[in-house]
Amino acid sequence: MGIDEGVRRPRGTNRDGWESELDFAELERIFPRYVGPGPRYTSYPTVPVWTGAFEPDDHARALRALPSDAEISLYAHVPFCASLCHFCACNRVITRDPDLPERYLQTIEAELDLARAELPGRLRCGQLHWGGGTPTHLHPRQIERLFRAMSDRFDLVPGAEISIEVDPRVTTAEQVDVLADCGFNRISLGVQDTNEETQRAIHRIQPFSMTRGLTERARARGIERVNYDLIYGLPHQTVESFAGTLDEVLSARPDRIALYGYAHVTWVAKQQRGFERGDLPDPARRIEIFLSAIRRLADAGYRAIGMDHFALPEDELARALDSGTLRRNFMGYTTREGVDVLAFGPSAISETRDAYVQVEKDLPRWFAEVEAGRLATTRGIWLTPDDRARRWIIGRIMCEARLSAAEVEGRFGGCFRDDFAAALDRLRALEKDGLVELSENGDLVVTGVGRVLLRHVAMAFDAHLDPEAAQSARTFSQTV
Ligand code: SF4
Repeated sequence: MGIDEGVRRPRGTNRDGWESELDFAELERIFPRYVGPGPRYTSYPTVPVWTGAFEPDDHARALRALPSDAEISLYAHVPFCASLCHFCACNRVITRDPDLPERYLQTIEAELDLARAELPGRLRCGQLHWGGGTPTHLHPRQIERLFRAMSDRFDLVPGAEISIEVDPRVTTAEQVDVLADCGFNRISLGVQDTNEETQRAIHRIQPFSMTRGLTERARARGIERVNYDLIYGLPHQTVESFAGTLDEVLSARPDRIALYGYAHVTWVAKQQRGFERGDLPDPARRIEIFLSAIRRLADAGYRAIGMDHFALPEDELARALDSGTLRRNFMGYTTREGVDVLAFGPSAISETRDAYVQVEKDLPRWFAEVEAGRLATTRGIWLTPDDRARRWIIGRIMCEARLSAAEVEGRFGGCFRDDFAAALDRLRALEKDGLVELSENGDLVVTGVGRVLLRHVAMAFDAHLDPEAAQSARTFSQTV
């Protein structure tokens, strides 16, 4: 069912649910109540709930439970980077040691074999994605080797999406040629911000000419689908400076733009402590930068997808939004139907219909475990029937900003209003602040103001979340 069918949308919102003119005064009034940490819901239950008691045997059992006709997604985490960007909270290894990527390739091949031994056969793959770190830290022949390692062990279906995250500062024309020859058809460029003062502060000097040159090279080689990643809330950013970034970005007309909020998580990324707090825009300025950006992107013809993605109307994400097939997982927003994601490399997270599993983050420990012939499982969780229902509900909210009570009952049985009474109570408080509109039977639509605070709407359905503990435990990033 498409977004315009079934559950109605709030008055005054456009087809993607954003209000054409947000009531800033109203937003500023309610905003202080919602400043605080919260999950991004790339999984449910969220990672802090998972347990270290989830063993390699559990991991193997989750793989064995996949049906032989499953069409899966594959992910490889390539952890290496040549230098550290000071905003970054990813799992990465800063190195120039040429031996490490070779050992990494040997180990990920062994890890793929360990997983294959548990799977019910040779599975089909509809989506393959490499993230990092910097996947283009690998040399051209290493790129070919990793691609072969994955495509030899799984059947890439015709039309599979094959995508990679690249850092324009280190990616060469030769690497682009190899990616095109392998069949990569989508490329995601880290851009963040093109303003020089901000780039100096985040330790990432990347003139836009570099980004444009790589974009043109990829398109010329037939990698036509291009994403740009941007970040708002970085040091020295203002509405005006970020408008300058958008001017440059829009001149290259990427198919998709991911606009992430900077996550100030100094307990994970100690180098962020180097940012003087005074250099970071305060919460009100952050939201102003974000809202100005979404207006600008809408004016340029981009459609808002979920919480933080924007796509041209002909892009698959926009089409998936209309057809109700948009999904959210650890790779972000995706158009693929199935939930099963098999992930490889240090820190990689797999999601199956029954479980989530993360492998060891620490590179030497990951090497040691896999070289000893073990799946390097570090934590995970088996999903209960209640978790599965809430995962689906939270997914609908994060993707479509709406929910149909009848659809939940059709999929999972039970009575929506009784089974989710506590969530509905929480939503009524949000309704008073104008974040959602609730109907008698429990149908939910998120308003334009609510779209800005979407994580709070999803949090109403999170049965594992203790908001007070999350505040004090410094577990999650700021919700806006
Ligand atoms: S932002 Fe990307 S390139 Fe920079 S340190 Fe993080 S993973 Fe590496």
